[in-house]
Amino acid sequence: MSAPPIPYRTDGDLSLLSNLSIAIIGYGSQGHAHALNLRDSGLQVMVGARPGSSWDRASEAGFEVCPVPEAAARADLIALLVNDEFQLDVFKESIAPYLSAGKRLVFAHGFAIHFGFIQPPPDIDVILVAPKGPGRLIRKLFSEGLGVPSLVAAHQNATGLALDIALAYAKGIGGPASGAIETSFKQECETDLFGEQAVLCGGMSALVKAAFETLVEAGYPPELAYFECLHELKLTVDLMHESGISGMRKAISDTAQFGDLTRGPRLIGETVRAEMKQVLQEIQSGQFAREWMEENRAGRPLFNALTEEGQDHPIESVGEAVRALMPWIQNSKKI
Ligand code: NDP
Ligand code: MG
Repeated sequence: MSAPPIPYRTDGDLSLLSNLSIAIIGYGSQGHAHALNLRDSGLQVMVGARPGSSWDRASEAGFEVCPVPEAAARADLIALLVNDEFQLDVFKESIAPYLSAGKRLVFAHGFAIHFGFIQPPPDIDVILVAPKGPGRLIRKLFSEGLGVPSLVAAHQNATGLALDIALAYAKGIGGPASGAIETSFKQECETDLFGEQAVLCGGMSALVKAAFETLVEAGYPPELAYFECLHELKLTVDLMHESGISGMRKAISDTAQFGDLTRGPRLIGETVRAEMKQVLQEIQSGQFAREWMEENRAGRPLFNALTEEGQDHPIESVGEAVRALMPWIQNSKKI
């Protein structure tokens, strides 16, 4: 099967941003990388923050930092890079009052717009530039002259240049070697949520825990269970990241590959697939988004209880002891 061509655009024109005043709202994972990379791309960047550690870090990095309403009032392009669940409050209180016609509002994830929590006035551009990587990687690759690709989309195109601005912004944060894939807020948002729920975070952590528990309940030492079910995961994932599933299979033993080919599909059988479809349906219907916003309004009772329960699982204490045997892991830590 030959793959269809990817609408990959490398023609972002930075000069479209050169006369715009850019405000990065939030200086967290994405915010710090966008602000630093856009500034190093030669653009005028200020940071909108509230007093606290993000404000101080942006200020130490040499940015002009001001309260969010002031940044929103002064900027031509406003990138809203606070946590998704707080975007509506920040937008309502500190941005909406300053959105005059022709301004551009940029998001790094489609959540608040696609699920209708934020409804911007019709006379501004509403743009998505969603880099496919965390902020630290975006900054690191930019500094090395490489780049993380972004997904770009226009939800509102008041100026007629919304997608061109998105491509330019993607180039500004990704660097000259980067490109962007055109998509929609809906596609970016729903696939992003599904990926993190089914595989990257939800599916993977549940799979690892279930396998760890299976070995420990069968009487095997927890340290061995940790090595086999969690520690070595990275080795396989790195191979898949570099060369795909078939590439990974070339690097593992034939015994491992035979077990993979014959046992994997049994584990992820019809029941799991049916549940995946259900999880996707809850994303598409907006049920998940509403549940998450309500959870935040209620002070995160379930989020906090489940996080605590996860921290108390034996895999965490065993993991701490096992990782202490390998001090080099600390040196390559991502967080
Ligand atoms: P972080 O949690 O890393 O950072 C959030 C930032 O928002 C912090 O600087 C925080 O400041 C600030 N903030 C929160 N509330 C307010 C407020 N009321 N007023 C002012 N500032 C506030 O978030 P991310 O960078 O992870 O996420 C930002 C966006 O990027 C989201 O839409 C996310 O979905 C998207 N995204 C994230 C990716 C990732 O890998 N992290 C990847 C691609 C997209 P303070 O220190 O004051 O709390
Ligand atoms: Mg993602």
